[in-house]
Amino acid sequence: MAKIIDGRAISAQIKEEVKQEAKALAARGIKACLAVVQVGDHPASSVYVRNKHRACAACGIKSLEFHLPESCGQEDLLRQIRDLNAREDVDGILVQLPLPRQIDADAVIEAIDPAKDVDGFLPENLGRLLIGQDGFLPCTPAGILELLKRSHIPLEGKECLVLGRSNIVGKPVALLMLREHATVTIAHSRTANLPELMRRADILIAAIGRADFVKGADLKEGAVVIDVGINRMEDGSLHGDVDYEDAFDRVSAITPVPGGVGPMTIAMLMKNCLRAARARRS
Ligand code: NDP
Repeated sequence: MAKIIDGRAISAQIKEEVKQEAKALAARGIKACLAVVQVGDHPASSVYVRNKHRACAACGIKSLEFHLPESCGQEDLLRQIRDLNAREDVDGILVQLPLPRQIDADAVIEAIDPAKDVDGFLPENLGRLLIGQDGFLPCTPAGILELLKRSHIPLEGKECLVLGRSNIVGKPVALLMLREHATVTIAHSRTANLPELMRRADILIAAIGRADFVKGADLKEGAVVIDVGINRMEDGSLHGDVDYEDAFDRVSAITPVPGGVGPMTIAMLMKNCLRAARARRS
């Protein structure tokens, strides 16, 4: 019988811990504060931004909203970031992606003060992860590690396959697994022997954005599956990158979609905000 890794429950636990820590910090006169910058009115972005403000409120973190018009120029946005960098009361800066076409997203992200990079997207923080130094970890990969740790799934010596090599999920989660002494393989769209790699993996992390791509028969018996994919189907339902029903009887543990990795991302963002406040102001 597979264990369902309950991301909602683990994320609630983390948010409760953050709330207690935020309270202790507030008692010392430090109110952690996240600035969320949104450009335009992309419907999905508006939902994500709203959820971030809600999570901050639930955790006792102050959140500020900066909403720029869709037509805003690169320099307007950079000026906004520079203002937030300079503000003593702002601990974390998050720019909601995607940005409109006229804006160079990399340049905007790189303008954020690394000490306020609570998304963990800056080259400085990703570089720290690469060489094993402390820094802000990107939220989804950090959330995956937390799910595994709190589910008591050992990583040392395990064969781990990461499907996907993006800068925000695939590459950083592979580095985190390596840091935990797993033997890590990263696969992508040009990988030639994917079926062989999937059948060998003790732990499979799927982050490719292809609905139900991994089937039960692809997996090693007793594997642990972490499904990062979020794919909206024609009927409006959400599916992961792994065919959950098909894989369920073959695996020892699996994350559902929704309710697995998704809720962890925001919980780790809250943790990063608190960490930024502590590091900057205490
Ligand atoms: P990207 O589109 O940036 O990267 C996808 C990766 O998957 C690429 O490296 C690509 O390879 C690889 N890939 C695509 N098709 C295949 C295939 N058939 N076989 C093997 N590899 C393949 O996606 P993200 O990393 O941003 O996101 C991945 C998924 O995770 C999406 O569904 C996204 O919605 C979800 N997501 C969920 C989050 C959460 O909070 N739960 C947060 C972030 C993302 P190549 O490099 O060769 O093109």
